[in-house]
Amino acid sequence: MSQQGYVAAPPYSQAQPGMGAYQGGFGSGPAQPLYGHYGGPPQAPPAGVMKSPVSSVAGMPLSPVSSQYNPNVQQNGAHPQSYPAPPAVSAPYGQPPHSLYNNMASPGPPPTQQLTNQMSSMNLGNYGNPPPPASSVAQQPFQAPPPSSLAPQHMPPGPQSPHMSPQMSPPQSPQANMPMAGQSMAGTPMAGTGRPFPGPPPQGPGGFQQPGLASAGQPGYPQQAGQFGGYMAGPQPNMPGGFPGAPSALAGPPQKKLDPDSIPSITQVIEDDQVKQGGEVFSTNIRGQVPPLVTTDFTVTDQGNASPRFIRCTTYSLPCTADLAKQCQVPLAAIVKPFASLPKNETPLYVVNHGDTGPVRCNRCKAYMCPYMQFIDGGRRYQCGFCNCVNEVPVFYFQHLDHMGRRVDFYERPELSLGSYEFVATLDYCKNNKPPNPPAYIFMIDVSYNNIKSGLVKLICDELKTLLEKLPREEGMENSAIKVGFVTYNKVLHFYNVKSALAQPQMMVVSDTAEMFVPLLNGFLVNYQDSRAVIYNLLDQIPDMFADTSESETVFAPVIQAGVEAFKAAECSGKLFIFHSSMPTAEAPGKLKNRDDKKLVNTDKEKTLFQPQKSVYEQLSKDCVASGCCVDLFLFPSQYSDMATMADVPSHTGGSVYKYSNFQVETDGEHFLRDLRKDVQKSIGFDAIMRVRTSTGFRATDFFGAVYMSNTTDIEMAAVDCDKAVTVEFKHDDTLSEETGAFMQCALLYTTISGQRRLRIHNLSLNCSSQLSELYKSCETDSLINFFAKSAYRAILNQPLKNVREILVNQTAHMLACYRKNCASPSAASQLILPDAMKVFPVYMNSLMKTAPLVGSTELSTDDRAHQRLSVTAMGVEDTQLLLYPRLTPLHNVDVDSEKPPAPVRCSEERLTDSGMFLLENGQSMFLWLGQASPPDLIQNLFNLPSLAHLQGHMCALPELDNPLSKKVRSIISSLLEKRPNSMKLHIVRQRDKPEMLFRQFLVEDKGLHGGASYMDFLCYVHREIRQLLT
Ligand SMILES: [Zn+2]
Repeated sequence: MSQQGYVAAPPYSQAQPGMGAYQGGFGSGPAQPLYGHYGGPPQAPPAGVMKSPVSSVAGMPLSPVSSQYNPNVQQNGAHPQSYPAPPAVSAPYGQPPHSLYNNMASPGPPPTQQLTNQMSSMNLGNYGNPPPPASSVAQQPFQAPPPSSLAPQHMPPGPQSPHMSPQMSPPQSPQANMPMAGQSMAGTPMAGTGRPFPGPPPQGPGGFQQPGLASAGQPGYPQQAGQFGGYMAGPQPNMPGGFPGAPSALAGPPQKKLDPDSIPSITQVIEDDQVKQGGEVFSTNIRGQVPPLVTTDFTVTDQGNASPRFIRCTTYSLPCTADLAKQCQVPLAAIVKPFASLPKNETPLYVVNHGDTGPVRCNRCKAYMCPYMQFIDGGRRYQCGFCNCVNEVPVFYFQHLDHMGRRVDFYERPELSLGSYEFVATLDYCKNNKPPNPPAYIFMIDVSYNNIKSGLVKLICDELKTLLEKLPREEGMENSAIKVGFVTYNKVLHFYNVKSALAQPQMMVVSDTAEMFVPLLNGFLVNYQDSRAVIYNLLDQIPDMFADTSESETVFAPVIQAGVEAFKAAECSGKLFIFHSSMPTAEAPGKLKNRDDKKLVNTDKEKTLFQPQKSVYEQLSKDCVASGCCVDLFLFPSQYSDMATMADVPSHTGGSVYKYSNFQVETDGEHFLRDLRKDVQKSIGFDAIMRVRTSTGFRATDFFGAVYMSNTTDIEMAAVDCDKAVTVEFKHDDTLSEETGAFMQCALLYTTISGQRRLRIHNLSLNCSSQLSELYKSCETDSLINFFAKSAYRAILNQPLKNVREILVNQTAHMLACYRKNCASPSAASQLILPDAMKVFPVYMNSLMKTAPLVGSTELSTDDRAHQRLSVTAMGVEDTQLLLYPRLTPLHNVDVDSEKPPAPVRCSEERLTDSGMFLLENGQSMFLWLGQASPPDLIQNLFNLPSLAHLQGHMCALPELDNPLSKKVRSIISSLLEKRPNSMKLHIVRQRDKPEMLFRQFLVEDKGLHGGASYMDFLCYVHREIRQLLT
């Protein structure tokens, strides 16, 4: 648990005081008293499906409360509202109600005077040419994306900014001064090392007080995580080569000169955690325990709290009061992935069946029976851990308590001993009090000219023949219960009757797209197994039927409407797979016009590029969610297609959007098919509604995800698959108790792939502390950045991008300054001191600000920006981590005999070598980069070509060659493709070729191609902001 602060805290490897109840580390923690049931002997996993006697239903005291809820239950899922309705969801980020965000200690942009002072104190004179004091800059320091425009003026001086110790000797050479280098810097004139940052760094507590690390005089900068943390030394004046003077050049040079190893490294943090916790078992029996990183390979044993695969938090120790929360500005949030896939060696969720009585719930807050319910009165009553209400134990559920006050059936009931489990839902939880029908998948193929001509339609039809054999099915069932249906369309829709009794499929055309209806009921949604022959026949015929089409116009909203009507008619939920080519311009509801306008970029109206065109699509989302209709969109555009609007329905219905620009079967076909296969086979739940309950004192206030909210508490999802996550923000409404801790329960009501109604429950307990140091120790940077990405991406719908970026930077500085002020031991102001658990937070934050949606560049496609914005909204922690810090892995020296994947290196150009080969992937794109001096034998082995010069562009897969290197590299690539939620197209790029630019934009530690500071510059800038906040 490397949670302590850098300088301030005790040694990294030591047990940390103050971690409250759980010093013991995994597994050995003492039982938490308030936890009631925990802490006992390692629990024997409950065996099999639990069945409880239901005979005593009659005797069960049916509380008036629950009966009165029934109507509500049916409509709303399992979440009757007896709980006091929380106040309205607060406005997104940055808006007035959220003073938290705006209210940085630093009141907005420093006034001109202040800035001027800063600038002058930066010793700009040391640079060849001081940056021109741009007036706009002077007024709004960090408004531009840290990018180019601004960076020049503000960032570069960073290093030498105010905090630079005056007595610093002049820099001597390009390297080094990594400001933060920490220990090594202290007192070490870097002179001999040829590093510019000669400055005798401030002495004192030393950059690194980490025990065990010398605080002074160490040359070299071990890039060990624990080792830096030092002070930000000054900047390097006088870089060799000087600054060309052009402001834009200013940002560049300094970063290259510093020793990049001296600033905190994500790859190092990942590696350290893997070494420390990789292969270990993480038992969830300890309240507030910080899990291993999302990148670490570990096994989870559920002992009373949900696995981190289901829920991760920004911090596992909440501040006790709203004031403390406000003071530190660390967002309190949980990222919930209710359907997360579990590795094969972890136990799937147990299903509890209480028969007709349904799950036992608190009469007042309706929380479900869980380990946080405290049994009293010899087992006759229990106190709810969420609202403290004392409830009678239903007669059928009564059980005696042992001498510890624990029910004797503790280990036999998942809902008493586990963090996650399911209940079979009763009819009360079903629409119209009727058990649901099995869900359906409808494949809707745009057969307009573009899709026919590209060969896409044939590709899809051919693939479906085999893919439909692999529809998700219940464990142990031979066939999938999911029904299938088929529609093709251009300006009109064609429905197909594929009833098994037919010899030939029948087509029915609906041309009135304004009044969409489904022209047939019987035979439209069928069991694939029953109708296989007819479906084959249909899939064979479709490409030919439209082979000569000249129709290029399409409709879109009516296609979704047709799906909704079909599900309504069949009284089932399900998913639409829409394969669509272009912006819908045909005369019909939801017709769109090209509204792309690059002139809006970097203006106050830029936000409109991200806003969907309302009306029709807004209503459609509502209809979809009401009928459990999830929409997945596969888009194959050749030009702007208003992604912001077209993806609106998918992103409110738990759907996914895939985009293949200028699709060509040869180069993109396999990529698309991999996505389609993954998507069709994903584990998924339908017609879902989730409620997050919390113990008293705090409350879920805001939600981010591919969800629909018709009120402030019910998170509705037409479907939710294993990759979709909802980020939930919490606010205080009272004081939290250190003793009791804080509990949350996420209850998801959904329909299984075979049509069973279930409740999936995830419980998590957190610590609470009146010490901010506890919060900082228990932070999880990967979760924090997930929250920031989602909230910033939502904020850009309503605010100018520059404001959003400014808020992000301010909040970063504020969070870190608060740590410095309240948690770190005193040290020289020139030191940058970061909490250990957040030491790489600035890299992620800087990377986030350079992402397409936030960067504000006319060179980026509006559709791509909108697409990324929406995709991230539904991502879990693992995906945002990878997206914001891609894996860059050297492959030229890969050990072909090793099972272990090669270790990634930092995402910076500095790590590339002319004779090297590197694989870069971020979950969305994948590149194989080849240095211009790649050895011929490597090229021969991988491509069967004599030299790099023979490599043709557009290659998107490696040839299958029979040699160890080829096999190894291909297996590394395919295991990554297997592992990630999305397929990635492989781009093979040669150093210095034009396509290399695409690759370079993912080197997130470097200055952004489209704007945005390098990591080094950003860190220096943040450090300066922190110093300002502290003065
Ligand atoms: Zn309760």
